Amino acid sequence: MKPEHSKPQPRPGILDITAYVGGRAAVPGVTKVFKLSSNESPLGPSPKALAALGEARASLALYPEGSATILREAIAEVYKLDPARIVTSGDGSDALLTMLANAYLQPGDEALFTEHAFLVYKIATLANSAVPVTVPERDSNTGLKADVDALLAAVTPRTRIVFIANPNNPTGSYLTRDEMARLHAGLPGNVLLVIDAAYGEYVTAKDYDSGIELAATFDNVVMTRTFSKLYGLAGLRIGWMYGPAAICDVINRIRGPFNTALNQQLAGAAALRDRDHFWKAVEHNNSWLPWITAEIRKAGLRVDDSVANFVLIHFPRTGDKTAAAADRFLNQGGIILRPVAGYGLPDCLRMTVGTEEQNRLAVSLLQQFMAA
Ligand SMILES: *Cc1c(COP(=O)(O)O)cnc(C)c1O
Repeated sequence: MKPEHSKPQPRPGILDITAYVGGRAAVPGVTKVFKLSSNESPLGPSPKALAALGEARASLALYPEGSATILREAIAEVYKLDPARIVTSGDGSDALLTMLANAYLQPGDEALFTEHAFLVYKIATLANSAVPVTVPERDSNTGLKADVDALLAAVTPRTRIVFIANPNNPTGSYLTRDEMARLHAGLPGNVLLVIDAAYGEYVTAKDYDSGIELAATFDNVVMTRTFSKLYGLAGLRIGWMYGPAAICDVINRIRGPFNTALNQQLAGAAALRDRDHFWKAVEHNNSWLPWITAEIRKAGLRVDDSVANFVLIHFPRTGDKTAAAADRFLNQGGIILRPVAGYGLPDCLRMTVGTEEQNRLAVSLLQQFMAA
């Protein structure tokens, strides 16, 4: 046997990572299943995005333009931003979150996030031998929510990044513009605030800002966005970030030189410019989210208020109505929700807003499960 030091060893922290597992898509033995486990769009992508994918075929022998000008200019136009302060990714916004961690965390540094935060923050932190610091959330009668005071109290001289999803997945809660501004105002200037607005397009609350204002104004704020959720392009893996020129410059140095493929640039740009499809997706969510929330509550379950395209459903910890039992029952009926034990919520399932047929089936199964 060769000694341990004779083989390659990963950086400390990497073997502490629990690899990310996406939402399930199939149930053995059940032929027709609806996947409501990954917050994908029930409307799918814009037909214009699909048409643009075809246009890419003619140029696939060539490298794409490396700075993704086609896509950055479309983003800048639609969101009224400076294209020079946008960086895109062809591996989702997850890759941007990872690159931000790679660029700004040294071994032993601390990254803060909330108790029920998106799992990628912890993975990206551990991958850099940095220390994930989890901050408790507040549990009010409307749901679980980031606690600005607790986050600020957890800042130490080693803190380098605060990751916050707004709205948060899987809780569906959000920080208002003022609460986020207060969080930012309390952070030292050398702490990077990463606002992950993957669900920002869904939020209609007047007191919400996706982070654009802060990222436009301050040297230590970056906002990340994705085409995977409202734009219905999860399979195409496109993300983008907006931030200070100096941070974009840093990410541009470490990203892959052609990290956003031509088909991604063209389809993303076409998806953005199809505002009819955009509003259809928003309206679909606005009509079904309250219905799902109310109907599941009527079945006797706690459902937290959500501003995104999913709800968090709480089940009793013991007895025959647990989250695990509900998960099995729903699976057999052809509905897959997301168990969220990995997010510190073992008694909950997360349900994505689906099509009318999917929503009605899921709700009816939950009602049957509770009545049985
Ligand atoms: C889905 C999701 C993302 C987006 O991931 P992509 O890599 O862009 O598909 C980012 N953050 C949160 C909180 C999410 O739920």
